[in-house]
Amino acid sequence: MKEIVTRLLAERGVTLVDIARLVYTLQRPYYPALSLEQCLANIDSVLEKREVQFALLTGITLDMYAEQGLLPEPIQTIIARDEPLYGIDEVLALGITNVYGTIGLTNFGYLDKTKLGILAVINDNPQAVHTFLDDLVAGLAAAASARLAHNGWVLLDE
Ligand code: MG
Repeated sequence: MKEIVTRLLAERGVTLVDIARLVYTLQRPYYPALSLEQCLANIDSVLEKREVQFALLTGITLDMYAEQGLLPEPIQTIIARDEPLYGIDEVLALGITNVYGTIGLTNFGYLDKTKLGILAVINDNPQAVHTFLDDLVAGLAAAASARLAHNGWVLLDE
């Protein structure tokens, strides 16, 4: 299942390295010795969780179906337009963010606001429907950051 969601993310234009760069940007100020490999390892652990895999599968599938015009109305138009008041994309992403507690929530809010790195690329693509993808990727980066923060003493010891 982890391989399937990793491949799905790649097909939608997001690599694990893209997500690791977000984690690196968020956590580097606290851990000067942080490496991109450590960020990747934390993303890998988050991706092991079944609820994370299911959230990614659900959101990305809805994006893909909306992109092809295959959903019934009115949800087709709502998702295709990324209706600002819809909010379920954020709710689904919180299922990922919350896996490592409330630190994830702060990171998610920050990423949602600043649209760092790959998040801006996803958001600025007018051809694709990325209504869920941007929040899921932010959720993943936030959860990996929270996991890293909880294990931070390991990095400070190095
Ligand atoms: Mg969204």
